[in-house]
Amino acid sequence: MHEYGSQHGANARADEQFPPLPPVRVTVPKERWTPTAPEAEPTPAAAPVPTPAELFAAAEAAPKLGPTGRPMPEFPEPPPLHSHGPARVIAMCNQKGGVGKTTSTINLGAAIAELGRKVLLVDFDPQGALSVGLGINPHELDLTLYNLLLDRNVGIDEVLLKTNVPGLDLLPCNIDLSAAEVQLVNEVAREQSLQRALSPVLDEYDVVIIDCQPSLGLLTVNALTAAHAVIVPLECEYFALRGVALLADTVTKVQQRLNPQLRLEGILATMYDARTVHGREVLARVVEAFGDTVFHTAIGRTVRFPETTVVGEPITSYATTSNGAKAYRQLAREVLQRLASH
Ligand code: ADP
Ligand code: MG
Repeated sequence: MHEYGSQHGANARADEQFPPLPPVRVTVPKERWTPTAPEAEPTPAAAPVPTPAELFAAAEAAPKLGPTGRPMPEFPEPPPLHSHGPARVIAMCNQKGGVGKTTSTINLGAAIAELGRKVLLVDFDPQGALSVGLGINPHELDLTLYNLLLDRNVGIDEVLLKTNVPGLDLLPCNIDLSAAEVQLVNEVAREQSLQRALSPVLDEYDVVIIDCQPSLGLLTVNALTAAHAVIVPLECEYFALRGVALLADTVTKVQQRLNPQLRLEGILATMYDARTVHGREVLARVVEAFGDTVFHTAIGRTVRFPETTVVGEPITSYATTSNGAKAYRQLAREVLQRLASH
């Protein structure tokens, strides 16, 4: 039925005269609407799928990146020594407090002693934290480094102490040393006082490590004057790099005026947390700023270190298989390798 025809009588009649047109069929030529297929890319020859064994071999052969983002070299155990001395003197130095100077002095020292080296640790911070960390109460001592520096009648043997770690000795100090800073000002060759004090025993030790106080004052200048090498512990925190330029400047001045053999031996990343982006970023910035001066070994953040202070012994004996102990043992091999290379 045609709907329009039913509405008007006239049209209805017209309908009868003109039968409906057949439906129009529109045909569109196929080529006008068929989308042309894009030219087929030549299929690359399928790469052979590596076997698990091949993947494993490739992973083994690739250089292993250490925490500093550089390939981690091997640090072999150094050969045993048949005699000792003369000592290489290291100043553990950063004018910022709480960065791991004392912790690194104790544990690097103990780890070097484990390698059969004779090591002397020098507590050169009036807080006496190094002495405490080795289980000694420095406030009970009659003679300390202070007396050795300022009293010509006191010999180093009267002040030296053995620790519980074989091959590891200590020159203790306590708060008296804070007076030395003032008293030394009036001495002749005041910057060489520590060097003079240590010189009688340098032939008996292989390594001496001086734990500096957090300042760039006269005591620290004495440490730098007595040293061959400076190690700068840097806490892997946001402001770690602040002040390092000033420290490097002080090292250069001492080198030029007082001690030409002094070298900035290495920057040691401490309290490193590999699990945080922040930790990895700070370490990357440190490597960017100091390049190969940064030790490959980084010391991770762990509560085991504060614990060792309480028990008064190095981590190498307190938690001998811990990651902290392993890190300082690796650092010991890295430091000895660096010292031997020049
Ligand atoms: P500094 O001698 O530079 O002042 P310390 O070695 O005394 O620094 O370290 C400051 C504090 O941080 C101490 O309580 C110490 O136990 C702790 N500490 C040091 N190294 C680490 C570390 N790698 N992880 C966690 N705590 C650490
Ligand atoms: Mg300290």
